[in-house]
Amino acid sequence: MVKIHINSHFAIGVIIASLFNHYFNFTLLEFSLIVITSFINDFDVFFSKYAKDHNHRNLVSHSIIPGVIIFSIGLIFDWSVLIVCGFVYFVHIFVDTLDWGTNFFYFPKKTFGLRFLMPKVEEENLSKYLANYRYPESYFDFKYYNNKICMAIEIILFILMIIFVVFLAFEYIIVVLFYFLGLYFHLSRHFYLKKIEAK
Ligand SMILES: [Zn+2]
Repeated sequence: MVKIHINSHFAIGVIIASLFNHYFNFTLLEFSLIVITSFINDFDVFFSKYAKDHNHRNLVSHSIIPGVIIFSIGLIFDWSVLIVCGFVYFVHIFVDTLDWGTNFFYFPKKTFGLRFLMPKVEEENLSKYLANYRYPESYFDFKYYNNKICMAIEIILFILMIIFVVFLAFEYIIVVLFYFLGLYFHLSRHFYLKKIEAK
């Protein structure tokens, strides 16, 4: 399933880490930990086969549970970095409810969200839409890149990330380099799918 791309989750992580760096003066390690927490759970995609409908968004890592646990441990030990990590984890889950939805509360095993990128008529006839493509993932990928709102969000988050890191955490600007790694991953896949589907 395609969703808000990993580089955008990364950008949100940098924005929040920079914001709190203003108050807590994080070390590079602490700053990086917060940024990593903002996107790390998307790697649960490698465990998709254990998920309901093989959708990684149904795994516990895409529910609010880990974020609540990290946040609580941070509160108990009065550990600001963990509190912020719990918060960014929650923000990731919340953002994921906006595009395709996620298994928010985990136990009801129900997709929860506003799901702006998944209109009901398409969801009900998904197999018909997927049949138009050689690879089902092309459908999701093209949908993302043809969506002006998705593009606008991605660009706005990038600009905000740069502004926040420059003004509030300039000493860690080097971390932003990893943003381009995520961007490269998505773009190279996009052009690869485009080439295949064009045939
Ligand atoms: Zn996600």
